[in-house]
This record gives sequence, structure tokens and C-alpha cells, in this order.
Amino acid sequence: MTILSSNSVFFRQPYFFKKHDATRLHYDLRLGWNGTLLSWAVPEGPSYCVEDRRDAIRMENHRREYGSFEGVHPTGTIMLWDRGMWELHPDCGDIETGLRMGMLRFTLYGEKLKGLWKLTWDGRRQANGREIWMLSKEPDLFARDKASRSILEEAPDSISTNRSLEEIRRDWFMGRKTRNSGPTLF
Ligand code: MN
Repeated sequence: MTILSSNSVFFRQPYFFKKHDATRLHYDLRLGWNGTLLSWAVPEGPSYCVEDRRDAIRMENHRREYGSFEGVHPTGTIMLWDRGMWELHPDCGDIETGLRMGMLRFTLYGEKLKGLWKLTWDGRRQANGREIWMLSKEPDLFARDKASRSILEEAPDSISTNRSLEEIRRDWFMGRKTRNSGPTLF
């Protein structure tokens, strides 16, 4: 009998990509693992072009229940830009090793982001000590060339409510959307 642990390469976990209109607009990648959400802030957002390398700043793990949050937070307006599942590529060993070695290859089963992606860390850090990883697309049928349109422009709005950041903010302050009264950490 095979028991799949949360560390198993074949174990699919929730995936979220948030769009966060903070001091500076950025995107937040969240990969569910071991009851929490591994987190990277991606200032320029993801790209389907394999030549593009996007800085991805490793952040503290986030609480799983905040994965699908959409609304206004003290740090700014947050949109659920994409969602789905992810799984580690079988070549990659296990997640703990990948995080330690600075190499995670994984498949996204999102509504906007699909196919094989890669997060790598070559030891660079920000002045505050945060690890500067790189997010990039691996070649496959989903990859796009330089000339094609950016997924960020093609599909800018919320995957759950189809709203823009402006609309999320407007609805929030008009009280049309039920507010999440619990504490939120972003
Ligand atoms: Mn953020």
C-alpha cells in the first residue's frame, strides 16, 4: 500500500496567485504545502515566455485560509488573480530539498497559469535578508514566444469575481461585498 505524504512528488496542493496593489503593484505566488502557503512576491508578475526571469522574493509562509482572500487590506487592495492546484515535478525530489537547494520545478493547474514552471535561488538576498528567487516558464506546449501578448494584460482581472482592482476597492468601501472580519496577514 502506498501512502502519499504531503511531501510526495505526486501530491497536488492548492495554488493561488494574488495581485496586490500595495505601495508598489506586485503579484504574490502562494503554493500550498504542509498546511501552510509557501509565498513569493513577484514584482513584475509571471510570464509565459521562457526567456523571462522574474524576481520572486521569498516571503514568510502564509496561512492557508487567506489564500482566496479578495478585498481591501491595510497594505492595499488584493485580488485573487489565479487559482488552482500545483504539484512538484517528479525530477525534483521533495519540496524541503528543493527549498534548501534553491530549485523547484512544478506543474501549475491554474485557470490562467498552466504547465511546467521553475523557481530557482542562486544565493542572492535583499538587504533585509530575504531570498531573491527567480520564477520562469519551462518549455512546453503552454510556453509563449516574446512576440505574444502578456498573460498579465490578456487576463488582468479576478479569477473568482472578474473584477478589476478598482472594482474590488469600490465594492469594498460601498459594503457590497461581505467583509472578511478575521485578521489578515499579507
Ligand atoms: Mn503582497
